[in-house]
Amino acid sequence: MKPTEIIISGAAGRMGRNLLQAVADHPQTVLQGAVERPGSAFIGMDSGEMAGMGASGISLVDSLEAVCQTDRVCIDFTRPVVTMQNLQTCIAHQTKMVIGTTGFSEQEKQQISQAAQSIAIVLAPNMSVGINLLFKLLETTAQVLQQGYDIEIIEAHHRHKLDAPSGTALALGEVIAKTLGRDLRQCAVYGREGISKQERDPQTIGFETIRAGDIVGEHTAMFAGIGERIEITHKASSRMTFANGAVRAAHWLAQHKRGLFSMRDVLGV
Ligand code: NAD
Repeated sequence: MKPTEIIISGAAGRMGRNLLQAVADHPQTVLQGAVERPGSAFIGMDSGEMAGMGASGISLVDSLEAVCQTDRVCIDFTRPVVTMQNLQTCIAHQTKMVIGTTGFSEQEKQQISQAAQSIAIVLAPNMSVGINLLFKLLETTAQVLQQGYDIEIIEAHHRHKLDAPSGTALALGEVIAKTLGRDLRQCAVYGREGISKQERDPQTIGFETIRAGDIVGEHTAMFAGIGERIEITHKASSRMTFANGAVRAAHWLAQHKRGLFSMRDVLGV
């Protein structure tokens, strides 16, 4: 079977370097492009040498256009404005996409959804197997604890993370809200400060954000009732968990021509 040809956008970033390793480790994928921002000091360097894993034969380029081809898969871990530009380039070349970038607006998410009418896309704010299992566990928990439990989502990430709450925290909130028949846009409360006029509304789902040090990613969903509290926690200790998931998604996409998929589709959970 032909290996899946991969392009990494954001190749010199924290995730990009882990993705280079994950592509090299996967027996059925081959790196065909490594893209960085124009002006990056890494342009022209061998991507494998940049990532400290020995020569890959693929140099970093500053244009996705230069490496895009039909049926290749672009794995994008950049930032929303870059992803939206990459989307247009990928549509033009019929290149598939795995989008790990987070922090999209509702309008941008709609544009990604429309793009999936012409190319195959996996969009997932968290590519780890464990987090996607958590989604399933939360559905069950929310079904059982419908009444009498206050729901809070607490997340912690490293000091460089720009968007808050994390895309994963929002996705966890979406799963719980959907299971309970609530609209997250109506019931989410983001942080609290000062003196509230009322006690906590039981219909709300609260979000708390920590940004500190080098925390890779931690998420807890808390269901607190009278006399007991259930906490479901996931802790990522290495970015390789996300990178391996993204490469698995890219290889899985090889069998799809178009459509929008989640990591749960990839993993079959
Ligand atoms: P980072 O800042 O370390 O890396 C981003 C890289 O993109 C940088 O190297 C930057 O130079 C590069 N870049 C900027 N403009 C570009 C352009 N025009 N073309 C190509 N590359 C360009 O950030 P990071 O920690 O690697 O995270 C990147 C994104 O991935 C964030 O949105 C983060 O929240 C998300 N993320 C998602 C998951 C997941 O599982 N889905 C996991 C971790 C991080």
